[in-house]
Amino acid sequence: MLDKSHVHTMVSKVWNDEETKSFVTREVNTARVENRKSTEETLTHLIKSLTVTHLKIKNKESALTPHFNIYTDRKSTTEEELWVNLRTYLATCTYTLPLQGTGKVIKAPFNCGACHGVDHPRGLCPFPGIKGWNGPTYHAEDDPRYRGRNYSRIA
Ligand SMILES: [Zn+2]
Repeated sequence: MLDKSHVHTMVSKVWNDEETKSFVTREVNTARVENRKSTEETLTHLIKSLTVTHLKIKNKESALTPHFNIYTDRKSTTEEELWVNLRTYLATCTYTLPLQGTGKVIKAPFNCGACHGVDHPRGLCPFPGIKGWNGPTYHAEDDPRYRGRNYSRIA
């Protein structure tokens, strides 16, 4: 069974491969001279701060399908363009595991109707279960996005 540690290993491998190193070098070399050090530090930090979570998404037949969210510590950078370039680059990489095949990369595929988060469907929103939540509550079955449809895919 595919779990988040497999995915972390797979993603980490790509994020630290020669192609990604070349991407970082290109970004650093095209930055203004005075910004090169911070550009390199920012990219290194973003790559190192990789975090993976598992989403329990079901398909039409109610079988669990593997969905994982990939995060970096974006709070550490205010350099919007650098972040967008990195995210765009990493989203175009190929992520493969020997027995699992190639993963599909989907950028911000959800739009939670309860909290407006983009990393989970409404049916998996953690907030309505928290004491003191005053926002909308839900029944997962009522939400068409719960089964993982209506994604906007890149590529
Ligand atoms: Zn939510």
